Amino acid sequence: MKKNPLNKIRANIRSIKGKDEKGKKIFSFSQNFFTVVLVLAVLVWSYSLIQSTSTTKEIPLSELASLVSTNSIKNIVVKGDDVIAEKTDGQQVSTKKESSTGILDTLKDYGVSTTTLSKVSVSIGTDTGVYYWTRIFSAFLPILFVVLMLWWLVRGIKGANMQALSFGQSRAKIIYPGDTKEKITFKDVAGAKEAKEELLEIVEFLRNPKKFLDIGAQIPKGVLLMGAPGTGKTLLARAVAGEAGVPFFHLSGSEFEEMFVGVGASRVRDLFEMAKKNAPSIIFIDEIDAVGRARALSIGGQGEGREQTLNQILVEMDGFEPTQNLIVMAATNRPDVLDPALLRPGRFDRRITLDLPDRGDREAILAIHGRGKPLAEDVNLKIIAERTPGFSGADLYSLMNEGAILAAREERKMVAQYDFIRAIEKVMLGPERKSHLLSSEEKKITAYHEAGHALVASCLPDADPVHKVSIIARGHAGGYTLKLPFDETRLMSRQRFLDDIAMSLGGYVAEKEIFGDITTGPSNDLQVATAMARNMVTKYGMSTLGPMALEHDERNSYLRSMYGKDYSEAFGEKIDDEIKRIMDDSWSRARKIIIDKRDALTSIAEELMRVESLEREDFEKLLLVNGITPKKKKEEIIL
Ligand code: ADP
Ligand code: MG
Ligand code: ZN
Repeated sequence: MKKNPLNKIRANIRSIKGKDEKGKKIFSFSQNFFTVVLVLAVLVWSYSLIQSTSTTKEIPLSELASLVSTNSIKNIVVKGDDVIAEKTDGQQVSTKKESSTGILDTLKDYGVSTTTLSKVSVSIGTDTGVYYWTRIFSAFLPILFVVLMLWWLVRGIKGANMQALSFGQSRAKIIYPGDTKEKITFKDVAGAKEAKEELLEIVEFLRNPKKFLDIGAQIPKGVLLMGAPGTGKTLLARAVAGEAGVPFFHLSGSEFEEMFVGVGASRVRDLFEMAKKNAPSIIFIDEIDAVGRARALSIGGQGEGREQTLNQILVEMDGFEPTQNLIVMAATNRPDVLDPALLRPGRFDRRITLDLPDRGDREAILAIHGRGKPLAEDVNLKIIAERTPGFSGADLYSLMNEGAILAAREERKMVAQYDFIRAIEKVMLGPERKSHLLSSEEKKITAYHEAGHALVASCLPDADPVHKVSIIARGHAGGYTLKLPFDETRLMSRQRFLDDIAMSLGGYVAEKEIFGDITTGPSNDLQVATAMARNMVTKYGMSTLGPMALEHDERNSYLRSMYGKDYSEAFGEKIDDEIKRIMDDSWSRARKIIIDKRDALTSIAEELMRVESLEREDFEKLLLVNGITPKKKKEEIIL
């Protein structure tokens, strides 16, 4: 069995980071020395300041002699040439004498009688007393300061040089296994069950490699975490390190090429070397797409440094044995642009996809981020989770945070449900633009536009029910209509696409029918609707062109723009015709609803102009008044 190398790791890591076991910085000798000298200098300086400002009065020798003659001196202390005398009234005086003659002879020379002198106590102090040293020190202090300053400056320059020389060194941040402050475990990651299970295997291998190797099992070298931004890839990678209790070398893809092109490759080399020295360990390359882009995609010279970096990663990953207890993890939200060589067996062959959280997971994530926040009794995270389909973990994190900020701004001690509900819209659409004042004409157009969306959605069987309509500007939107999906199926049906397109056109149609003109307002709606129609035709085979995939993933579509399309011009025309047909059909369906239910449209728009935003309940009351039965959510139908 291999001996436990934990102590070796500790020593290694300590020497890398200059930290002791508890993570505290060890001061180097030179730093220590510098501090001590500085403190001493300040002490001595202030001491000599006090000395010079004390009551000692400098007088001529003759005056001292006359003072002695008049019996007004109690005692005299001699230190070298300095003579300090205390008067009977307690005051100190000082003077200087010639070094060749003693004080008694000097005073006698001034005519002081021997009998008077014998009444004064005279003592000889030593030259090496504090007094003497302070004098020397304070004289040299300015020089000392200059020297120190110079030394310090030179040291700084040397440091900068050192940095320039060590460019190649890996910039990895290291999380040390004993570091409890930064420790994240699987408990801090909600949901992502499959991902955690897969990663648990890795954790077990790092903890007990022998078990796997004895049975001849191959342990993966590379694990690639894939998923949309904010789904918790970085978080999960750190949790693996926390669970496994091994050193974790963390580096972001863009850091390989920071400042100087061409250092990436040597950084990779250093990183792997360091990790191998500390095995078992984990290397984590975040945002690997920054270096791992398919080589075919980099045109011209600009990708050269990156290419070398990528090659070096490939070389290093081939260069260590699975028995070395080193695992390379990487994360990306663009797996489609990664170089296929990275994904080959023996490299990042273990791939884990992180999906956006479903309703249950969202509730769990909310609960995690609700820890440490005082929640009012009415807070119901389940409802928040229901209302946030499509939110990522990071979105939910900022939702909880925004909620708390709202409560704090209103000077409340607890965060209420209402705060979180408002935070949903803020995270989804950006902050309210209160300063954005609509003219009454604009307000009217916006109200009819949003009412158009809401009405069409309510009348089409496969569109999602509306849960809020508002004409308060937020982020880029002038107004908004929020839908709540029936259920979170990942499969979209053709009918649902068609209804969604019609709903997107609802605002456009309403503007046209009511005002006879169209504003720039619906431009985003049109983009969304057209993109949906195009996908139906080219990706999902949901058109009369039949089952054909005409659009490929990003990488191929990029290549296609270089090498041409994979369908003929004639067929391209058919695609465009088909898209147009879908759009026209949806437009006339929306138009029929707007024309048939014009009264309902007007009453929704008028209510919107009055109250500015309508929650689901009030909106559905309006529908009922106008003879439209509101849709029920699935579970409500079951009840
Ligand atoms: P990614 O690297 O995938 O872009 P991060 O790991 O940086 O996302 O996640 C951002 C933040 O979102 C995390 O710091 C965490 O607060 C929160 N978060 C994301 N997913 C989860 C989750 N499953 N459980 C708890 N928090 C999460
Ligand atoms: Mg990340
Ligand atoms: Zn719109």
